[in-house]
Amino acid sequence: MEANTELIIRVGAALGIFSALALWEVLSPRRAMLIGRARRWPSNLGILVLDALLVRLLIPVAAVGVAVIAAQRGWGLLNITPWPAWLEALFGFLALDLAIYAQHVAFHKVPLLWRLHRMHHADLDIDVSTGVRFHPIEIILSMLIKIAVVILVGVPAVAVIAFEVVLNATSMFNHSNAAMPGWLDRTMRLLVVTPDMHRVHHSVLRHETDSNFGFNLPWWDRLFGTYRPQPEAGHDRMTIGLPIFRDRRELRLDRLITQPFRDDAGASATLPGIESEQAGPR
Ligand SMILES: [Zn+2]
Ligand SMILES: [Zn+2]
Repeated sequence: MEANTELIIRVGAALGIFSALALWEVLSPRRAMLIGRARRWPSNLGILVLDALLVRLLIPVAAVGVAVIAAQRGWGLLNITPWPAWLEALFGFLALDLAIYAQHVAFHKVPLLWRLHRMHHADLDIDVSTGVRFHPIEIILSMLIKIAVVILVGVPAVAVIAFEVVLNATSMFNHSNAAMPGWLDRTMRLLVVTPDMHRVHHSVLRHETDSNFGFNLPWWDRLFGTYRPQPEAGHDRMTIGLPIFRDRRELRLDRLITQPFRDDAGASATLPGIESEQAGPR
């Protein structure tokens, strides 16, 4: 597949899904927003544009290109196995999803990586735009990790494209502030991470932040014991964000970019009762 075709498919799918979810949030919101869209969307979408420009500029051969090269040269496990194409694509997809889960855990547990990733968690509301709010350095690291997995496992190009389209879609979906009936959430949770499941991960309480690491498939959290079904305070009353960076100025694009390199002085002054949870290394 041509690079341009791939780009058009990915951008087109992402735009369509983003618009549909944004409309759902407006028509049927899950919870009342603390800050709302006007102050958050310019920054969250600004960082998305920056990420797209950086990754395209710095890593011209994206994961799909690497998959094609790996297949031509016989690199990676799946390029030496005689399995049928569908099985290799399925295996490759699962391997990428497990890698993303493991990477997410690492971004929480390794202090230097947490500095990059916590910008995603510092959003004071969670909605579809939070799903694209990642620090550019995290995006670059994550792309490099994905490329390493593609080479080691020999993930077929078709699985890489499918994975990226699905990951973009599910990331926007599971961050959306869209209400859905309980039965639908419970049923979907068997297959995919739902908004109610991922919202627990955006709780200000650290033991809740450190749970539900999955983005696509909910199975890894259940398998590795990091699954937490609901937030303790309930979805309406839970506090979204971190104990630090709660000042509204921190929602500005320039502040988002510098958050990894700063510590917040007046942390959690407005949130009594959660200080004890911040102590100790992540
Ligand atoms: Zn996280
Ligand atoms: Zn998230």
